[in-house]
Amino acid sequence: MTGAEFLHRLARVRTGAWKGQRAPHKPLLLLLALGRVVQGRRRLVAFSSIEPELRRLLVKFGPPRDARHPVYPFGRLRNDGLWEIPGDGLLATTSSGNLHVKQLRERDVVGGFPREVHQLLAANPSLVVTAAEQLLARHFPPSHHDGLRAAAGLRWDWSVTQRYPEQPESAAFRTHVLDEYGRRCSICDFDAHLGDRALGLDAVRLKWSSHGGPNDVSNALAACLLHQRALNRGALGLQPDRSGYRVLVSDKVAGSSPATARLLDLHGRPVSRPRTPALAPSASFVDWHRKWVFQTPPRLEEMA
Ligand SMILES: [Zn+2]
Repeated sequence: MTGAEFLHRLARVRTGAWKGQRAPHKPLLLLLALGRVVQGRRRLVAFSSIEPELRRLLVKFGPPRDARHPVYPFGRLRNDGLWEIPGDGLLATTSSGNLHVKQLRERDVVGGFPREVHQLLAANPSLVVTAAEQLLARHFPPSHHDGLRAAAGLRWDWSVTQRYPEQPESAAFRTHVLDEYGRRCSICDFDAHLGDRALGLDAVRLKWSSHGGPNDVSNALAACLLHQRALNRGALGLQPDRSGYRVLVSDKVAGSSPATARLLDLHGRPVSRPRTPALAPSASFVDWHRKWVFQTPPRLEEMA
């Protein structure tokens, strides 16, 4: 098997629908298994030892109120050619085709990547990274990616551009956005320049290019590098109001210095508007950012 064949198989994993959205069970088990490769752990793991971990991830990252069955992916992933349970011919299945939880626990049944997949991954660390990122991008909103990497033990060094799927902006797009916002941060009015060039100011997309966000001024804000980062990490969001948008600060942002207090104080501040009213951020891009990137909940203080 080649790396490309493995990634193809991964992309074709059948997840089915689960309460109206794509079921996260198989992707979560795959992320845990990739984490085990990164950590150099054994190929096969007992169901009873991975069950609590998988259940925790389902509670945290799965759809709310689902039945949270770790047994479902442990058995079903075999059909995708990505999982092996040695001796599974001797195991009974339920009428719905799942394995029996009790039997898995009592017999200490083990499972894991098939041997050839495991050997391929163990020899290709960059393939593990690609596979994990592919699963994250296809099955989970960007705001969950850091938490999932940490929970699955997937730790690697990232350059900023790898970590945030935003690529450096094209010069024309950046210039257009900065000009529309008067070469100031739309969040805090930062407007330093060095000679005739803006200093530490960039165009930031609301809907990410990796998710189909276009290079339109209506999908962007001019922002200083701190607020660009804060928007991309979901520390800041936007809320519509009568005259445009106001800044939301996530309640998860914490810190005690006066500079951090200035960040927290942005909550409720109006976002600057572009010179051309028709190029103001469009509601669909703001909604996307609010839904997929912003780290809920917002701070609770009343907005001015
Ligand atoms: Zn700023």
